[in-house]
Amino acid sequence: MKDKDMTSEIVLPTDALTGAFIDGKWVQPTGGQTLKIENPSRRTTICEISASGAAEIDLAAQAARKAFPGWRKLAASERGKLLTELGNRVAAKQEEIARVLAAETGNALRTQSRGETGAAANVFKYYGGTSVEQKGETLPLGPGLFSYSTREPHGVVGAIIPWNSPLVLAAVKISMALATGNCMIMKPAEDAPLAVLKVFELAADLFPAGVLNVVTGTGEEAGAALTAHPGIDKVSFTGSSEVGKLVGHAAADRIAQVTLELGGKSPTIVFPDAADGRHIDKTVAGIVNAVRFARQGQSCTAGTRLFLHTSVWDKVLPRVIEAVKAMKVGDALDEASDIGAVINTERYGEIRAFLAQAKEQGAEFALGDVPAEIGEDTPLAPECVILTGIDNSWRIAREEVFGPVLCVVPWEDEAEVVKMANDTHYGLAAFVFTHDVSTILRMSRLIDAGWLQINQGGGQIPGMSYGGIKQSGIGSEYSIEGALEAYTFRKSVTIAVDA
Ligand code: NAD
Repeated sequence: MKDKDMTSEIVLPTDALTGAFIDGKWVQPTGGQTLKIENPSRRTTICEISASGAAEIDLAAQAARKAFPGWRKLAASERGKLLTELGNRVAAKQEEIARVLAAETGNALRTQSRGETGAAANVFKYYGGTSVEQKGETLPLGPGLFSYSTREPHGVVGAIIPWNSPLVLAAVKISMALATGNCMIMKPAEDAPLAVLKVFELAADLFPAGVLNVVTGTGEEAGAALTAHPGIDKVSFTGSSEVGKLVGHAAADRIAQVTLELGGKSPTIVFPDAADGRHIDKTVAGIVNAVRFARQGQSCTAGTRLFLHTSVWDKVLPRVIEAVKAMKVGDALDEASDIGAVINTERYGEIRAFLAQAKEQGAEFALGDVPAEIGEDTPLAPECVILTGIDNSWRIAREEVFGPVLCVVPWEDEAEVVKMANDTHYGLAAFVFTHDVSTILRMSRLIDAGWLQINQGGGQIPGMSYGGIKQSGIGSEYSIEGALEAYTFRKSVTIAVDA
């Protein structure tokens, strides 16, 4: 059943509701399966779309293979122009796309979805501009030999993305693959494919048939078929570490290339000087931003473990609590809302289970409580929680909650806080608050993370390579260097020269 109010507030994709764009056409998947897309703020069904399976993956792989020789031959500058044009089209439709994104993800329009749509447009434009920067090397081997290297595309890339920031992740993967001369088949997340499909509608007449394909469907059917298909040369996956391991196995079985962008449990370390009168406002804002409370904590880089120096504990923690309390939880499409809703009832239930267990283990709730049991119609908006009295061995301190939950831990000794921060199987992001240059440089060396932010808790920026270590992933994305490393291989050419 469609929500009547909703359809007047958002403009759904039209052709794309068939759920698959293959070989330059919107096609109806044959399996007869559908995906129901829900609005987590309102607990209503937005629409149903068709779900693809192995048959559509196979068709898309054939189409992409057919398109590859022509696409790789096109000058990188020409490929770049098409990406720039896609960026311009997304920017022109920013508001319309952002509203769909807010409705399906529960990510508030003002604080999240509008910005994510603008960021996706900028990603297309960034790669549009830098696509020409695909340089090789020369090697001086003596008078009789000349060797040089080029960057070559892998071929067909299969991309799988999650629901938490689907638009910007789709933009990054499409741009990196196409700029470097690869063709692509994308599978969006089953909970939030609509905004991504709107971008595919804007791209439908831009690229030659078969270069860019999309198939909606479940992870078990469409996702698994994509990772295992012999016609896919590289898999680029963003999602949980659990599924990332399955994807890694499937790729290893046929020695396919793979990039994995996985989960995190990022530390935020606050040094005493960051709480002095000049800096405390920015420090508090940075801590709150790093947790991604405004995205219900549903971010891979969320700084969910706050290590607060005991000497400033009483000064900083009440300010953090006050700042979080001031944020307005509400409907994701309401301009007044700072915080929207978590994606689905399963996620809500998991957050609840994490918090119930922490309470049983003795955690103190400095803010919030275990969320109420969810009713049929209540918005999926658990209140923000700040916990103290945590032991680092507890599940809440070690695993990704993916909800609006912050664990606060006191520290006194620098070596000890570094040890606690690194005591995790993740290594995606980290945040350090201090204005002492030597401490900044020391921390940058000692903290195990792919991305360290100092005195801020912001989001990824095009041009800055970004990726995790340990179980947070393999490879990096977001920059032209990342695209060259992840979406091309280096071919060496050695020429015997008549000297
Ligand atoms: P998920 O792993 O459940 O799903 C991600 C995608 O994988 C979805 O499209 C899903 O359909 C697909 N999938 C599921 N099972 C599959 C299978 N067997 N084979 C192939 N594909 C399959 O993750 P999620 O719940 O959608 O997203 C949240 C997770 O994503 C969190 O762990 C978060 O940290 C991570 N994430 C990481 C980054 C990053 O850049 N490192 C960015 C955003 C999100």
